[in-house]
Amino acid sequence: MPRTSFHNALIVTMDAGRRVLTHHVLIINEGRITKIQPAAEWKASPGEEIVDLKGRYILPGLVNSHVHTVQHLGRGLSDDVDILTWLHKRIWPYESNLTPEESYTCTMLCGLEQIQNGVTSMADAGIHHAEPTVRAIGELGLRATLCFSIMDEGDGLPKVWQLTPAQLIRKQEAAYREFHGALDGRIEWWLGLRTLMNNSDQLVKRTIASAEKLNTWVHMHVAEAYEEKLMIQKSRGTTTVRHLEKLGLLSPKLLAVHCVYLDQEEMDLFHKRGVKVSHNPAAALRVMGLPPIVELQRSGVTVSIGTDGAPSNCRNSLIDEMFLAALVQKGRLRDPKVMPATDVLAMVTINAAKCMGWEKEVGSLEVGKRADLCIINPNTPNMQPVHDVISNLVFSMKSDNIESTICGGKWLMREKKFPHLDAEKILATAAKQAEAVRKRAKIKLPKRFNWT
Ligand SMILES: [Zn+2]
Repeated sequence: MPRTSFHNALIVTMDAGRRVLTHHVLIINEGRITKIQPAAEWKASPGEEIVDLKGRYILPGLVNSHVHTVQHLGRGLSDDVDILTWLHKRIWPYESNLTPEESYTCTMLCGLEQIQNGVTSMADAGIHHAEPTVRAIGELGLRATLCFSIMDEGDGLPKVWQLTPAQLIRKQEAAYREFHGALDGRIEWWLGLRTLMNNSDQLVKRTIASAEKLNTWVHMHVAEAYEEKLMIQKSRGTTTVRHLEKLGLLSPKLLAVHCVYLDQEEMDLFHKRGVKVSHNPAAALRVMGLPPIVELQRSGVTVSIGTDGAPSNCRNSLIDEMFLAALVQKGRLRDPKVMPATDVLAMVTINAAKCMGWEKEVGSLEVGKRADLCIINPNTPNMQPVHDVISNLVFSMKSDNIESTICGGKWLMREKKFPHLDAEKILATAAKQAEAVRKRAKIKLPKRFNWT
């Protein structure tokens, strides 16, 4: 890959000084950012590719801190239902019936959508088939942290998932040995805990020991639903967060997702233990409730944004999630000053990188970091005029404004085209396989409107 220089762009670095650079050239080489210099000082090197961006914006590649790649063929399978119906009647039957090849297609479809939204890194909360998922991430060219979906108890758990804590830990440690650091470091293997509603204390304790031994992270849905609050009060006699603290799970390497039902003492506990949080506004609004994100940030907790899986969001656009994240908190607190655009943009870049432990490598445009970036064309009716770039990026930008996505110096999407992927083939395969899984899983959807 030749040295490439990007010219005539506005560079939104998201570095510690939050510098926005005009009249600068950004240079990448061998997958890393090697120089960001005033345009007047730039000299071309032999063989250098010169890209004239004609007034476009360069942003760090976006970081999606919570996805379920495996759910992508389930988009639309569970709309307008409560969370327990969502899990027991729709998503568990769907996920437990997926074949390895369908898992591969799920990841390809999900990745395609992420790339279209400027995403270069994502944290997956629970796959079922490791090899096809890693293969797909390899073909997509993205970075990801992966873990299995891990559950060992609870009503209606499909037979195929009924394993003991010891078996589940063995399975995860084997995958760690095989895939951690794969694809030249683009894959990290984490440990999964799906939710305390479906995880025994024994499993949580073994997970803590294994994560310490492997020095890896844990990805878990925490205090996500009101039903969980009632269930945990009944089974453990306390709240989810207090119980996890008692078990010893709260640590700087825990990525806690949703966190809708937290009180101030629990938020302080998160801060004290260094727990990271992924906020998924669309999914929260659909089936869970409104999380206290502003209060979490005021308590000193690092919060990022994720899309969650396709059946709980349906649009999987981190761009849409930025817009929602800001609006929901402003409305919830009836205070337009909370969640300003500057904070929201950090939640999908540098703070999201911190939530994955990747802040030294990605999340901002700085010399030495990976060449992960997205290029935005602001010259569309929805983004013009531009009085305040940062505001427009959060409140006006749509997915369609993302023109190119680059990960590790490789163009994953270039001017809306995918140089390495056959998007039409992925879409056709996904449509066919999605119907096959739905039938195999015997998922019945209510008929809407009168069909003839
Ligand atoms: Zn999730």
